[in-house]
Amino acid sequence: MTGEFELIRDYFADIGGDLSGSVQLSVGDDCAVITPPAHQDLVVSIDTMVEGVHFPSGTSGDRVASRLLGAALSDLAAMAASPAFFTLALTLPDTDPVWLKAFSTRLAELARQYGVQLVGGDTTRGPLTLSVQVHGWTPAGKALLRSGASPGDRIFVTGTLGDSRGGLETLLNNIHGEQVPYLQHRFFCPEPRLDTALLIAPFATAAIDISDGLLADLNHILEASQVGAMLNPGELPISHELRHWVGEAQSRQWALSGGEDFELCFTAPALVEPKLAWALRDHNVAVTCIGQISETRGIVLAEDGQILPVTPQGYNHFSETGNFR
Ligand code: ADP
Ligand code: MG
Repeated sequence: MTGEFELIRDYFADIGGDLSGSVQLSVGDDCAVITPPAHQDLVVSIDTMVEGVHFPSGTSGDRVASRLLGAALSDLAAMAASPAFFTLALTLPDTDPVWLKAFSTRLAELARQYGVQLVGGDTTRGPLTLSVQVHGWTPAGKALLRSGASPGDRIFVTGTLGDSRGGLETLLNNIHGEQVPYLQHRFFCPEPRLDTALLIAPFATAAIDISDGLLADLNHILEASQVGAMLNPGELPISHELRHWVGEAQSRQWALSGGEDFELCFTAPALVEPKLAWALRDHNVAVTCIGQISETRGIVLAEDGQILPVTPQGYNHFSETGNFR
């Protein structure tokens, strides 16, 4: 791509900072050089977004940046890792300076906010596609896995569920109205629950971030841990905005199986619930108990004495609703 080096220098040379001080050499050489802190494990994850698949064509650079980095960092949160640095693979159809400025400015703001540094990447020409590979640290052996849930553990989620699915609906159907800005904000600006993850990590037995829908992602914990779950749908945390817009039944359905909430779902033994509540006493993100782990495999919804088995069908990027084309 002509001007590739200028583009990197102008937009991507100085983004974010690494709070762990592990980055020795950043953007500019053939590779970045990292010195791992003593007694830490490196935790790595990559996320890709394609225009027309993960976001509508014509989405502003700042919205793409927040969706991209937020979703990628959410995976680090799910492992209770502290973000350190990231790389960015950018495929651009052209070099639109307005889009690039908005993208890199927002990326820099978020990178500073979350203490993560852009240390390298790759820039090519083609249909707009963005990949972010995030790297974080956990104390050695302390990464929070999907496999530790036991029967009797309580199941918790952070924040509210279903908003992002609501935001997607407003985009797909070009809906306007009072609740739309909030719901679209929830779709484009996921807040990785990094601080919450560090607070719950001492008590949690398993965790995942909700990207494909609560049922689908909880099911990953259940399979990895070889257990089942009983959920109380009446306890699902649903925002006033979503409930007001689509009502209780549709909100619940989206809370259970709408995608891209980027909230955490985690389990913890019932015995540590008071300690968990104490650890979260001044925290500004809601953490709600929505059910418990059972020995019997599968997921059931339990409400008003009724027990309803459900399939862990989640949101699917290759289904119609997931595609903006
Ligand atoms: P090479 O050809 O040796 O792979 P490049 O010319 O692709 O190197 O990149 C030059 C430098 O710019 C490298 O340090 C690379 O990591 C960095 N870089 C390239 N694209 C990006 C990007 N989109 N964001 C951040 N750094 C980038
Ligand atoms: Mg090289």
